[in-house]
Amino acid sequence: MHPLFDLTGKVAIVTGCNTGLGAGIAAALASAGCDIVGFNRTEPTDTSEKVHAHGRRLVNVRTDLSIAHSPEAAGALFEQALSPFGRIDILVNNAGVIRRADALEFAEHDWHDVINVNLKGAFFLSQAAGLHFVRSKVRGKVINVASMLSFQGGIRVASYTASKSGLLGLTRLLANEWAARGINVNAIAPGYMETNNTAALRADESRNRAILERIPAGRWGTIDDLAGATLFLASPASD
Ligand code: NAD
Repeated sequence: MHPLFDLTGKVAIVTGCNTGLGAGIAAALASAGCDIVGFNRTEPTDTSEKVHAHGRRLVNVRTDLSIAHSPEAAGALFEQALSPFGRIDILVNNAGVIRRADALEFAEHDWHDVINVNLKGAFFLSQAAGLHFVRSKVRGKVINVASMLSFQGGIRVASYTASKSGLLGLTRLLANEWAARGINVNAIAPGYMETNNTAALRADESRNRAILERIPAGRWGTIDDLAGATLFLASPASD
């Protein structure tokens, strides 16, 4: 491991790491020496095994992140995350939810549920992490999992597009506000990845074909595809 990418002794929160991209991100961080605190609704058993295989530990804080939409609630969750290892160096806001319906019929609960987790929760967890980094003089890293829909409109995903476009804006704002304090805030905006999030699209033969025709690589992304970008943004390589 090149020292620029070495995360030995560091601890990362990865939200929603019991499956999909979060599981891949947790495993990638562990491969560089990082311990993991997961925020998940269920025990991330498979991810724990991957992390252990790299000789690191994963401690789960069992939570539904739709509660993390106030400074108090997010701050309390962050305190719980601090206790197992006594430090947090990296926050990966990965947990996300998507609801599909035509804009003309889009329901209010499908707006709130998505915005609460993808945008509001990510912001207040970042705020809690930022406060900790500033007070503890940690050169912290925040990595938000954005989306192609941070840049494009998409179809049938009004609240998701709003949340991911908002998350990109917040990433830029936090990067501006915190850069001088040595805190890096970045986003990874994946294309179409093979996870639960896209199961409905992949099951729809015509959408699956249409999507594959537009992906230059001609295949859906895998959870391992994000390892390099994650390690770069989490490590001193991106200082
Ligand atoms: P996924 O459904 O496998 O993972 C989503 C994760 O978020 C799961 O761990 C889930 O439990 C967690 N989560 C959702 N709501 C939660 C809540 N209320 N409380 C706690 N955890 C909650 O799908 P994924 O594709 O791995 O999604 C991970 C991130 O990647 C999301 O932010 C998603 O928007 C983003 N993303 C995915 C794609 C793709 O093509 N799959 C593309 C761009 C961005």
